[in-house]
Amino acid sequence: MFNLDKLLRDNIRQLTPYSSARDEFTGEARVFIDANENSLGSPLTKWYNRYPDPHQWKVKEAISKIKGIPPQHIFLGNGSDECIDLLYRAFCVPGKDNVIINPPTYGMYEVSAHINDVEVRRATLLDDFQLDLVHLENLVDANTKLIWICSPNNPTANSIDRQDIEIVLNNFPGLVIIDEAYINFSRHKSFIQELSEYPNLVVLQTMSKAWGLAGLRLGMAFASEAIIDVYNKVKPPYNISQATQELALKALEEVGQVNDMIRSLVALREQLIRDLGELPLVRHIYPSDANFLLVKVDDARGVYEHLLRAGIVVRDRSKVELCAGCLRITVGTEKENAELLKSLRGWQV
Ligand SMILES: *Cc1c(COP(=O)(O)O)cnc(C)c1O
Repeated sequence: MFNLDKLLRDNIRQLTPYSSARDEFTGEARVFIDANENSLGSPLTKWYNRYPDPHQWKVKEAISKIKGIPPQHIFLGNGSDECIDLLYRAFCVPGKDNVIINPPTYGMYEVSAHINDVEVRRATLLDDFQLDLVHLENLVDANTKLIWICSPNNPTANSIDRQDIEIVLNNFPGLVIIDEAYINFSRHKSFIQELSEYPNLVVLQTMSKAWGLAGLRLGMAFASEAIIDVYNKVKPPYNISQATQELALKALEEVGQVNDMIRSLVALREQLIRDLGELPLVRHIYPSDANFLLVKVDDARGVYEHLLRAGIVVRDRSKVELCAGCLRITVGTEKENAELLKSLRGWQV
């Protein structure tokens, strides 16, 4: 039923990928005059005059140890955003193919589709923010290449039912991408262990949220070796810089510290839920499996502007489908949350 070769764009199936100097020679040598680098060095002390490892093997090994996934099943992108965009470029013929999203959800699936001139079909979530499987099935046709599922979902903060996702994985012959950017804050299990079960599964994770490295730009895709090979074929040769690789390696040694932060953020989230719940202007706080809350308030725009005047910026999602009246609030530090609550207590219509 699932045929990766058939799913690929013709031009990508036939593509001869760029072969870099670092690809063609990987052994031991003393003199490297094969890549037109600056042989004298650089203004920086390190070996930044050299091109980085195009396959980031050391970083992948470190991720492999933490996640229990072999390095050949890992692709690294310049943020998840690159992992998203490359799937469009490899699988979707502009002006012909389509993809399905389940809004309200992360905006980049749609923006990236538009950049690539790919049609976006929308199976809006049900009122409980779960998949509308009937609508989804009706939207699929022979040109549907990708289905995007974000779990925990941004901006609704909930996890998507595992059984529903399994139904999509078992029945859709294209790629199912599960974006797990917030999985570390969730009570639910990742799909990362199911790669051998589903040849059409791509799991996205990122260093931007739980790992606290949004500035580094490092996204991860986990999939079958065949899908990772496609990623490697279409990626820019040196998409992850030497600096990023070095810093990521250092960070990956600190799993313990990251786990402590995750525990703290979850505790801060639960405290914030209790505190917000006591404010008269708060109508509803949706359950959260992430490091943010979707909060329905009286006069969302008014509250948003009131907070801005106090120098506090939250995300106004009140114009987004199913999110009328809602603000999306990231869990801050204890002090930041206290400032938020103080400002909200001072709000009057
Ligand atoms: C924040 C976020 C990401 C992270 O994107 P990066 O490019 O890795 O920073 C991915 N997906 C979702 C749903 C997000 O909210």
